[in-house]
Amino acid sequence: MQLHLPLPELTLAEAGAALPAPSHRIFCNRSLRLDRVQWIGFDMDYTLAVYDQPEMDRLSIAVTVKKLVEQGYPEALLSMPFRTDFAIRGLLVDRKLGNVLKMDRYRYVKRAYHGLRELSLEERRRLYHSRRLRPASKRYHWVDTLYALSEVAVYVAVIDALEVGGQDVDYSQLFADVRAAIDASHQDGSILDTMLADLPRYIRRDDDMPRTLHKLRSSGKRLFLLTNSHAAYTERMMDYLFEHGPSEYPSWRNYFEVIITAAKKPSFFTESAPLMETGEGEGQEAEQIERGKIYAGGHLALLERRLGAGGDRVLYVGDHIYGDVLRAKKESAWRTAMIIQEMDAELMALESCGAQVERMDELDDVRDALYDDLHEHQVRLKEVSRARDVLHAAGQTCTDLDSARVLHRHAIDRLKARLRSADAEYTRLEAEVGRAFHPFWGPVFKSGPEVSLFGNQVEQYACLYTARVSNFDSYSPMHYFRSPRDRMPHEH
Ligand SMILES: [Mg+2]
Repeated sequence: MQLHLPLPELTLAEAGAALPAPSHRIFCNRSLRLDRVQWIGFDMDYTLAVYDQPEMDRLSIAVTVKKLVEQGYPEALLSMPFRTDFAIRGLLVDRKLGNVLKMDRYRYVKRAYHGLRELSLEERRRLYHSRRLRPASKRYHWVDTLYALSEVAVYVAVIDALEVGGQDVDYSQLFADVRAAIDASHQDGSILDTMLADLPRYIRRDDDMPRTLHKLRSSGKRLFLLTNSHAAYTERMMDYLFEHGPSEYPSWRNYFEVIITAAKKPSFFTESAPLMETGEGEGQEAEQIERGKIYAGGHLALLERRLGAGGDRVLYVGDHIYGDVLRAKKESAWRTAMIIQEMDAELMALESCGAQVERMDELDDVRDALYDDLHEHQVRLKEVSRARDVLHAAGQTCTDLDSARVLHRHAIDRLKARLRSADAEYTRLEAEVGRAFHPFWGPVFKSGPEVSLFGNQVEQYACLYTARVSNFDSYSPMHYFRSPRDRMPHEH
């Protein structure tokens, strides 16, 4: 049984030092020596700035729905409820059929919903299991940011609302409309302005974070900020986040050697855009990168020239698997750390399900043993039946063979009954454990007994992953993060 989250063995802290509490741990997929890292770069949104997800979802949903109604969608949408707890990261929207899917690492669809109705195994088989699904094709939309959760919540709710009224829904058009509405809300300021007007409501400020950055700097590391947010927004947000930092830092700018906004990741890593001044020199191309100034745009080679380092001397900390982690890794050989806000809830659910998970492990062994026994009796029954048929054909009978057949048959019936009951118990426990993680989708990192597609990407592209930036505070800036994956299964 492998229902455990794919958390590798916990990274050992320095010899003799106690491991941090689970929610403060940094997990390691690929070994990393922090003492060799000279530069640490940070993304801002959902990395340094942690948003309150339900508040953000409520805000995004309200402005999106308002825009949809302005476009001609029914007014009833304005007063209907939306499930902000429906979507999780790692889902796939099937724009053609209006379904939302969760896959395992083999791209096998393990769960699916149409609106808020879960598809049966039969439906999933018919729709998704006959050929290998291609998540990158146009038909599908990969939900890989926390920003995108609200659009999924709106999409499923509107499908339900329209279909209950007997309306035919063009699922693809609806999804395009929802996306356009939310993009417009970001651009026209409906979301950003509301947030900036009430940051304490929308941001869960981590007051340990400034000290963590100070500790990293004190150990000789240099920091940079690389965000897609625009300069003005970045300034407002960073002012708020670093309001209560150590007194050596009169401004958040003092923490960073280089500050780049409007970076347009992931194309920052692959294309070559000019680096622009902001503020007084706005509109002019920057000739050099000065400490304390805020720039916009630019590209990887230019930044690395300024850092005087690249490759594995740089650790980039971000939350977006594609924009931050995957591209940084593929194009630049930077080391990566992924901030996964969902970690706390996942770890808590995992802990609360310890007894069930243990029982499921036992049941796995029980089922394996029962299958072996069953198989053996079935083979024997065949042999005995064949021998009996040969005798029969020769006009003879053998009572021993007859009674052996009866014995094997009874054993087979008994074993099948025990298997059925073990299967039923396993299914019940699996559902219980799933609900402890998430009412609709179960764990973010797992899909049934397999690692989910999302978990798989975290494993592949994030050298380290953790719940929050301030978790670096629990480790020495010289820490050697060791991956348990340095060994193959046969070496254990
Ligand atoms: Mg981000």
